[in-house]
Amino acid sequence: VFAWRAYPPAAGASDGAYLTAPSLSRRGVRVAFTTRHGGVSREPFTSLNLSYISGDDPAWVRANRARALGVLGLGLSAWTSGRQVHGSHVVRVGPSERGAGADSPADTIPGADALWTQDPGIALAVLTADCVPLVLADPDRMLLGVVHVGWRGLVGGVVERALADIGTGGSMVALAGPSIGPCCYEVGEDVAGPARERFGEEVLRGRNLDLWAGVAGALRAGGARQVHFAALCTRCEPARFYSHRRGDAARQGVVACLR
Ligand SMILES: [Zn+2]
Repeated sequence: VFAWRAYPPAAGASDGAYLTAPSLSRRGVRVAFTTRHGGVSREPFTSLNLSYISGDDPAWVRANRARALGVLGLGLSAWTSGRQVHGSHVVRVGPSERGAGADSPADTIPGADALWTQDPGIALAVLTADCVPLVLADPDRMLLGVVHVGWRGLVGGVVERALADIGTGGSMVALAGPSIGPCCYEVGEDVAGPARERFGEEVLRGRNLDLWAGVAGALRAGGARQVHFAALCTRCEPARFYSHRRGDAARQGVVACLR
């Protein structure tokens, strides 16, 4: 399902590639999971940092966001994101929310870890650096959602709530992008306990939490049948991804839209 595509060359920007889903693209749903490559930011944000609250120069973040949205065929004004709080609040986005959070973190949609829309030309965005950027796309019904899933949101039911709001009929496809893998996600009992209670022992591997197995379980429970994981660990690959656990303040993420 996943395929890498290169950004077109741009003055001042580094070379880079994004992870997309050509089969969805052909059906009118454009998706780009970003990495740290392809942008204009300098160390320690090198180079495609999408976060205003990272301490990076906002002008560079704007340029990076425009570059990511360019591959969807959209401009910065289409960027629409929520204030991510590791909650399970799901917000339906229409034309009046288009552009929320595009130019400044001040006007992001409050408390929204999951966004969905039926309107073309709105670029839904989620920022991550170890958490799972999740896309829920139904090309038959032209419905699209994006979800920010960390352990807290997962245990809180954000995945099932997003599926319930969007609906799982038709041709729902779930895509889970680069995020911390079971190889690296060591947790304490404060995290392991609630995860075990919610999903059972199979989401734990020794001292590590298997966030991907948890997301897969939540997607199954929510009724999603076509589920695909990039299975790329952000903590394992510092050359390619930002990682919160490794100390990065910068963020990659996913941008997606209906055409
Ligand atoms: Zn890893």
